[in-house]
This record gives sequence, C-alpha cells and structure tokens, in this order.
Amino acid sequence: MTQREACRKAAKRLSQAGVPEVELDAWYLLEWSCGVSRSHYLAYPEEELSGEQEERFFKAVEKRERRIPLQHITGEQEFMGLSFLVNGQVLIPRQDTEILVEEALKYLKPGMRFLDLCTGSGCILLSLLHFCPEAQGMGSDLSVGALETAVRNRDRLGLSAKLVESDLFDRIEGRYDLIVSNPPYIRREEISGLMDEVRLHEPFMALNGHEDGLYFYKEIARMSPRYLKPGGMLLLEIGCAQGESVAGLLGEAGFDEIETIRDLAGLDRVVRGRLACQ
Ligand code: GLN
Repeated sequence: MTQREACRKAAKRLSQAGVPEVELDAWYLLEWSCGVSRSHYLAYPEEELSGEQEERFFKAVEKRERRIPLQHITGEQEFMGLSFLVNGQVLIPRQDTEILVEEALKYLKPGMRFLDLCTGSGCILLSLLHFCPEAQGMGSDLSVGALETAVRNRDRLGLSAKLVESDLFDRIEGRYDLIVSNPPYIRREEISGLMDEVRLHEPFMALNGHEDGLYFYKEIARMSPRYLKPGGMLLLEIGCAQGESVAGLLGEAGFDEIETIRDLAGLDRVVRGRLACQ
C-alpha cells in the first residue's frame, strides 16, 4: 500500500468513527508511526509502506478509531514550544492555556517565588520556569499519577521545581509573589456531553468543577490571600462564560486591579487580581 492510499484509508475509517479532523490525524499518525516527514510525503506520496510500517500505522489508527486522543497514542503534546509527556493521568495541555503563561511571564521576574495549583502535567509550571529560569516554582496536585507525570516532565526538560501532593493549599507553606492555576472548571453535569476523547480518556478529576464549575475558584479566591505576599498576583484560567463570576469572587476576597483577559478568539480566558498591600 502506498503512503497516500494508507492515509486515505485511515481518514475514511476515522471519519466513520466520528473523529473530527480525520485528514490531519491520519497524517500525524503516519508521521509518528512510520517516521515519514511531511515534505517527504508530499514529494513521494506513491512510495510504498513496508509491511511492518503498515502494521504500525493501522494499529495506531485503530486506537484513534476508539477515540483515544492522538496525544495518548503519541504520548506527547507541545505547549509553549516545549514537548510534554502526557497520559490518562493528566489533562492534555491546551493551547488556550498559553494565554495564562504569557500573562504570567509579563509579571514573573528572576528571584520571585510562584505556585502552580492543580499542575497536572506541569505544563504551566515548567514552561514558566523554562522562560524565567531564575524564578522559583512550586507545583501541587491532588493526583499522585499527575505528579509522577509532572516529575518526569520536569526532569526531561532539565528544570528544577518542587512538586507536592496537596489538596489545593493543604500542604503549602509560606508566601508567594505569584499564584497561577488552571483548575478543573467544567460543570459536573456538562462532562457527559463532552466529546469522547475528553469524556472517556481525560481524567474526570481534571475536568470536574463541581455543580457550578466554580468550586476551585471559590476555594482559591478565599485561601490565596494567606499565601500571597502583599502586592502579589493571582492569575487564573477560566472557562469563557466564567469571567464575571470569577472576577466577582476575587473582588469579594479583597483583590485589587481585577482584570479579565481575552484569548485570540475574543473570549474571556484569564482573570487576574492583585492582593492589596496592607
Ligand atoms: N494545569 C494543568 C493544565 O493546564 C492541568 C489542569 C487541570 O487538571 N485541570 O494543563
């Protein structure tokens, strides 16, 4: 079978399985399973795949047909230009979250201490440290499986960061210049309506924002003044309909300079606030 035929066949099978972007996924799986580069494919689409390549490719296609996310098949996801290992224990890093990292980088300076709550794969914590290596970063998560993944990512990226198992602030000590978080924020009853890749393969715990989706924001807003230095900054990723509610929570908790930041699609994506200097 030629590369082109293999891709066409895969795309057809994937579309029957209800996969959204079949051509792109077929192509990624070919690249990943057979090491065929895009330029090579475009130049020699009629090149034959070896029996072994064909087997590897269709094995991967079969997984994708079961709606296993592409990133669980390849084992990685790029975020902020860095490669992160991912698996069923962590939320797959989303491009939307790069907005949070970019906002945090405007504020983070060498020597500052920062905390990433619900760190998951560690994508926020570790990309902040990559781009601001002289900051001191700490990440926490309630999930041991997530922490193990974050530790592997930290070591793979050659960074130093403390990672602790903690239910939000439970085992956190001291005060920080910056607290960031992309906590679970989907309303519990909405989770069953999400696409199969998310609903069946990403950790429920990383999605579940309880009844109103705001559980973690309420806790973080209430607790973080005890863990921020005076004048310290809190930056939270939010769902696009949560801007007003989360900004309100920060206001009630005594934050100043509250601002909602939009993503490139014009949707509310990040809320930030500064702890007043007493
Ligand atoms: N902080 C991680 C991320 O942004 C995990 C978030 C989560 O588990 N909800 O990818």
